[in-house]
Amino acid sequence: MGQTLTEKILDDHLVEGELEPGEEIGIEIDQVLTQDTTGTMVWLQFEALGLDEQQTELAAQYCDHQTYQFDFKNTDDHRFLRSAAGTYGAHFSRPGNGICHNVHKENFAAPGKTLLGSDSHTPTPGGLGELAIGAGGLDIAVAMGGGAYYVEMPEVVNVRLEGELPDWASAKDVILEMLRRLSVKGGVGKVFEYTGPGAESLSVPERTTITNMGTELGATSSIFETDEKTKDYLARQDREDEYVELKADEDAEYADEVVIDLSEIEPLIAKPSMPDNVVPVREVEGTEVDQVIVGSCTNGGYEDILPAAKMVKGREVAKSTDLIVAPGSKQASEILAREGWTAEMMAAGVNVSEATCGPCIGIGHVPASDSVSVRTFNRNFEGRSGIEDDSVFLASPQVAAAAALKGEIVDPRDLADELDDLEAPGVELPDQYDASKADLIAPDEAIDDELIKGPNIGEVPLKDPLQANIEGEALLKMEDNITTDHIIPATSDILKFRSNIERLSEFTLSRVDDTFAQRAKQADSGFLVAGENYGQGSSREHAAMCPMYLGIEGVLAQSFARIHKANLFNFGIVPLAIDEETYEKIEQGDDIAIVDDVAEAVESGQEEFTVRVNDDWEATATLDASERERHILTAGGKLSLTKQQNEED
Ligand code: SF4
Repeated sequence: MGQTLTEKILDDHLVEGELEPGEEIGIEIDQVLTQDTTGTMVWLQFEALGLDEQQTELAAQYCDHQTYQFDFKNTDDHRFLRSAAGTYGAHFSRPGNGICHNVHKENFAAPGKTLLGSDSHTPTPGGLGELAIGAGGLDIAVAMGGGAYYVEMPEVVNVRLEGELPDWASAKDVILEMLRRLSVKGGVGKVFEYTGPGAESLSVPERTTITNMGTELGATSSIFETDEKTKDYLARQDREDEYVELKADEDAEYADEVVIDLSEIEPLIAKPSMPDNVVPVREVEGTEVDQVIVGSCTNGGYEDILPAAKMVKGREVAKSTDLIVAPGSKQASEILAREGWTAEMMAAGVNVSEATCGPCIGIGHVPASDSVSVRTFNRNFEGRSGIEDDSVFLASPQVAAAAALKGEIVDPRDLADELDDLEAPGVELPDQYDASKADLIAPDEAIDDELIKGPNIGEVPLKDPLQANIEGEALLKMEDNITTDHIIPATSDILKFRSNIERLSEFTLSRVDDTFAQRAKQADSGFLVAGENYGQGSSREHAAMCPMYLGIEGVLAQSFARIHKANLFNFGIVPLAIDEETYEKIEQGDDIAIVDDVAEAVESGQEEFTVRVNDDWEATATLDASERERHILTAGGKLSLTKQQNEED
């Protein structure tokens, strides 16, 4: 039987297990990436493992989320990251050089390689045929130590694209259509493999918009076959020699198929506050818009900003609306500036920012209270923009620019009818991505050979091995779809403590209940209770590390998001699945005890556990864990286990 492209790449990198959906497999990792909010902890963990040099083909450390360096803590973090990259042999991308996914795509992503990144949008280079997966920082540290990465073998779904996109429709609308059809849970445990004539019609930057936002479907990854377009993109980046032709076999069998006719795609928009809340733009036409931002790892490339620049050239942004362009990389900024587009945008009233994630996570350009912001980003979770009652819409650069010109949401086709000289901008790549690499420091150019730690850089917390008895209070009961942003908000006033777990943990779940952290610390042991899809969103391992530091022993939830569940194992917190009836019955403040000898039961492979509540009633909870994950849990987490193993060697 033939293989899908995903199976081929996994087969090439397989070190343990079999390619059976649902089975755990171990794969060799060729490349790793880390960004600034997750990277400090990755390197502290790498240091704690006692390893001298990173072992993958290529490691890259980016400074992109918090580039404004409001106070010394961020600057200290960036200096620490530079020193870690230099000490352990990674590339270092300076703050302002761009978002990890954009800069990685431009400089390092290569067909057929595996990439593991401590950021949930790591799958972006799937648009170039790289199999890229987001993971917790500790997994990255272990991969850098030469260890395999373990993941459940995903189901591979064929997304067959027919036809070609009409004017004013874009790659963003294709992924919004996927979200409209499949929802934010539709990709869990899956890799989406895009094939067909429609896929061939898309340029690499368009493909990476789709693979980037496959994360919002909950997918393990998304990938395109490679072809002349891939080769052409690499040639324009001066990396043609890295091209490899990769296709699924003709007789490959897919677990499922989704068919999208690109010629029927129209401009779409995700309404507040979920990326799958998608409707045609015409349904919300007329909504007044206070702010528009074009940028992010989804739509921050040269090819994304150029259409917006063409649309505003010679016109003026509506006086009632602010239009901010935050390029995804300095490469994009530099080329746009050389070609004169930056001046055209400025003349039209655009505020051109440095290349940063910034506003995507509420760092800068926070919307005004009770206002509407249209963004080309990938997420619009409530509060992510930096203000709780935000109203963020997600759309393509074309829809965003149209909104900025009109001051209200408008389908760009209708705006084109109104303004008779507004033409569909299309997608255009520069002849050559000719830009400086001054902000990228290669390992052989490193300026540090030892770690530089400022006063805000703390210690990595370690947990004791799992005990026989686990009991404590249900310290917090939460709804469905609790995100990692709820658990540890990524706003600048909080994120600056990312390398200082003692301080950061004070903000744990503060967006749900601001008394939680204090109560948890006092209790020193306890449980979290949640509905479906607990921990969705980013790969932020702080969202497991901080609850662990506060003494949380277990999470009882109806279901868990993939990366967060792996992070719970990695930090020694027991993730137990409960049914809806049990969820409804448990109240915050109830006394919970796991009846069995938990340490022994976990180690022996037991799947069902009895949960006793208030010494009054009992329910069954399920632990879905591989043998490897069980070892990790009983040791008190992956760091404790790896340290133990190193000491035994
Ligand atoms: Fe940065 Fe936002 Fe992309 Fe995350 S989703 S990498 S915060 S731009």
